[in-house]
Amino acid sequence: MRIDGYRWQMTAGNTPLVRTAVAFEPGPSEVVVAVAGCGVCHTDLGYFYDGVRTNQPLPLALGHEVSGTVVATGDAAAAGLGKAVVVPAVLPCGECDLCKRGLATICRHQKMPGNDIHGGFATHIVVPSRGLWEGDVARLARGGLTLAEVSIVADAVTTPYQAVRRAGVRPGSLAVVIGAGGVGGYCVQIAHAAGASVVAIDVDEAKLEAIGRHGAALTLNARNFDAKALKAAIADFARQHGLPTTEWFIFECSGTGAGQLTAFGLLVHGATLSVVGFTLEKVEIRLSNLMAFDARAIGNWGCPPEFYPAALDLVLDGRIQDMPLVGARRLDDTTDVSAAVHQRNQRKNIVLVTA
Ligand SMILES: [Zn+2]
Ligand SMILES: [Zn+2]
Repeated sequence: MRIDGYRWQMTAGNTPLVRTAVAFEPGPSEVVVAVAGCGVCHTDLGYFYDGVRTNQPLPLALGHEVSGTVVATGDAAAAGLGKAVVVPAVLPCGECDLCKRGLATICRHQKMPGNDIHGGFATHIVVPSRGLWEGDVARLARGGLTLAEVSIVADAVTTPYQAVRRAGVRPGSLAVVIGAGGVGGYCVQIAHAAGASVVAIDVDEAKLEAIGRHGAALTLNARNFDAKALKAAIADFARQHGLPTTEWFIFECSGTGAGQLTAFGLLVHGATLSVVGFTLEKVEIRLSNLMAFDARAIGNWGCPPEFYPAALDLVLDGRIQDMPLVGARRLDDTTDVSAAVHQRNQRKNIVLVTA
């Protein structure tokens, strides 16, 4: 079954997207999702403005934060027809040796919409049926979310969820989150839900004030401290509250060079430094501090689809709140919207909707 629609395709960096008519058709184990919403994320804008290369050569529709309804299926995926779904930002193949060993995030056959395959800046998207999160629209509504909005929430929540899980945060831990914005704000709440006392660091007072009401036990404005004083302030807080002064869990969520330097400067004995944010900036650090502190640094790429239900349960059960404001814009305004998000003059996270 073929479904007529269109994509807004990127043909070259920083040039208007091109509306291209497409007859969408699923392969045997694929589905066609009618896009309800697709978030516009800084990862997309990195491709569009900053020269980051997509794996699939252009032209390509960007957009990896996709939710919608399955409107056509291949023969092997017929059970999914009509379901409301969120498409994970990274879809592992599920069959290779890495996937079978539980290492789906490094699957070499993984597909990221808007990078490896056409993304969600479109009326429809064709994706493998495996690993889609099946949403219960009524439950979403009780949690105050629409299917379109949950596309953004899923991406912003699952990445820090995977990072907190992988780092091994446990009840009684001290976690430090650098960058309390879209991803970091969720990271604070997820670490808190995992039983940690959480210190949030940012340079924006408004964000610190908000996260102080949603899971952060201590908020610190990095502008008011040098590296040494910042570490001392957290150590004081730990001693006052009977929290560990070793084995801190540090999450770099700002995706800036300055944030990475701050994060690295907070290493204590047995610390775990998780790099969650991305930047092209380079930083100068003494890597041997990892050795001296017997610490570890770990990266994080996406989140395996099997953890999407647990991560979204945190949202739908209200254990994570203070969703970033989501603003809906028309799919056909994609080019203008991308420019506005790129200039960071949007207070809200933007989701493109077809309706
Ligand atoms: Zn994203
Ligand atoms: Zn695989």
